[in-house]
Parts: sequence; structure tokens; C-alpha cells
Amino acid sequence: MDTRDRLEEVGEKGIDDGKSLLGDYITKEEINACTSCNACTEACPININPLDIILQTRRYVAMEESGSPASWNAMFQNIETNFAPWKFGAQDRFNWAGELKEEQ
Ligand code: SF4
Repeated sequence: MDTRDRLEEVGEKGIDDGKSLLGDYITKEEINACTSCNACTEACPININPLDIILQTRRYVAMEESGSPASWNAMFQNIETNFAPWKFGAQDRFNWAGELKEEQ
């Protein structure tokens, strides 16, 4: 609805009023609160896809502004270095099982 409000404001003229959708209409907290359940897209009677707008905005914040929450940045770093969201690499995933064997 915020996207619609903004679109109605600038219309097709593309007015540059110094405002932006992100920040002036939608907050980072709002886009981060979405669980990407897709219920809004499924419920829309005219096939608007609000989730796509949310994900693109979230991607913009992450890629262009490095503005994701700190806990997300830690996860991104882990994915980049360990190919998984955890702090350890794939070769260490089953270390916990070894500890179980030693306890028996
Ligand atoms: S996908 Fe839509 S319905 Fe689901 S949490 Fe995000 S905004 Fe809400």
C-alpha cells in the first residue's frame, strides 16, 4: 500500500521531490519483518506481488547500502566463507556426532 501511495504521488511524470520509497514510505524494519510467507501474493485478487517488492527492496538495502541487521551480515559472511549460515565449515558439521561416540 505504501508503494501504491508513492506511485500515485509521483504518477507517470516521474517527479523528483527528494523523497524515496525506502525511508520516506517504507522503513527497513518493515521490509525485514516480512517472513516471505507469500500469503499477501496468494490473497491478492488482481495478482499484485507485494513479496517481490519487499524482496527487491531488502536486496537493495543489503547490496547497495550494507544496511542489513548485524545478525544477518554475520550469516551472509558465513555463507560466503563456509557455504552455510553457520560459523563452521561443511567438514566440521558432524563433529558433534564424534563427541557423542566418546561419551558412550
Ligand atoms: S510475504 Fe506478505 S503476507 Fe507474508 S509476511 Fe511478507 S508481507 Fe506479510
